[in-house]
Amino acid sequence: MINTERLLDNFLELVSIDSVSFHEREVVDFLYERLRLVETKGLKITIDDAGEKIGGDSGNLIVSIPGEESYPTIAFNAHLDTVEPGKGIIPRINDDVIRSDGDTILGADDKVGVSAILEMALTLLEKGESHPPVKLIFTVAEEKGLLGAKNLDPQLIKADQVFVLDSVGTVGEIIVKAPYQNSIFVKFKGKAAHSGINPETGVNSIKAAALAISNLDLGRIDDETTANVGVIKGGSAINVVPELTEIKAEVRSLSESGLENKTKTMIKSFKSGSIEVGTDIDIEVIREYNGFDLQKDDEIVKVCSEAVRSIGLKSSLRSTGGGSDTSVFNSKGMSAVALGVGYLNPHTTDESIATAELINASKLAQAIVMTVSKK
Ligand SMILES: [Zn+2]
Repeated sequence: MINTERLLDNFLELVSIDSVSFHEREVVDFLYERLRLVETKGLKITIDDAGEKIGGDSGNLIVSIPGEESYPTIAFNAHLDTVEPGKGIIPRINDDVIRSDGDTILGADDKVGVSAILEMALTLLEKGESHPPVKLIFTVAEEKGLLGAKNLDPQLIKADQVFVLDSVGTVGEIIVKAPYQNSIFVKFKGKAAHSGINPETGVNSIKAAALAISNLDLGRIDDETTANVGVIKGGSAINVVPELTEIKAEVRSLSESGLENKTKTMIKSFKSGSIEVGTDIDIEVIREYNGFDLQKDDEIVKVCSEAVRSIGLKSSLRSTGGGSDTSVFNSKGMSAVALGVGYLNPHTTDESIATAELINASKLAQAIVMTVSKK
């Protein structure tokens, strides 16, 4: 059994430690200390070099707990960083629900996952029963385009199955389907000129961008695909024909062909805006991550469903429109699912978690280890 009091204490302490993206060092130190206290032969704790690569103060924390080699190696993942406003969080418990005092987020996204995994690991290390090799992958900068996960060393995190404890939804919800995502960066390059003296020698890049965007279909395109223009930046002064205008846009789709088709349509529109006004154009498309689509008969999904049932909860399979580290693991060729951990209203000052869900999340992690041990 897990120690629910220790779980709750660690969660409250973890959310009280500031860890906005790129500043996860203190949380890494906290986890390092907690895990170091448990004396186990062969326990390996590594902090990788992702921090240096992405400009953060810490790398990803990877813990390797040796186990019976006859079982598959399983990994648990949660991310250490939070969004803003995430400094000086004061957690309060009211009617068995934990919230912040109101001026900040709570950071349950994803400290619920972090503390649930920590408690599972501490219990596992204390009990000394036979279990599979287990890896804990605590990532940095998830909220900044999954940067920590993208910079993980594949050798260090080798595992047959990855369970990502980081999703809205109650404990028991298994996320088996997630979208592909492209980012599109566009630069319209016109020509500057004084707008009052010689506007006819200028080429207006804002006009090109505006024409392009006004012809775009954005938002929910169909059941599978969404599109957005999220950032536009252009011009330098009110009396100058704007030379440079930049756009940041994205497309997500549950199908790769849906993603590619919508991306092509958007590029076509950007190009025609540029042609109409006579600007140069620079377009860069970046595949942020690949989607995944697991079936209920896939081994990892069977393990999750069985583990959920074993702790007396109901399992359900669903899809998401959001990206998470799960997508990166799947893109790296690993089998990964995301699991609902019960937090509500993430990224807002109304964020909360019921203590019962926090406990369920940790029980589920433990049940997954036990389910794999029985196979
Ligand atoms: Zn998260």
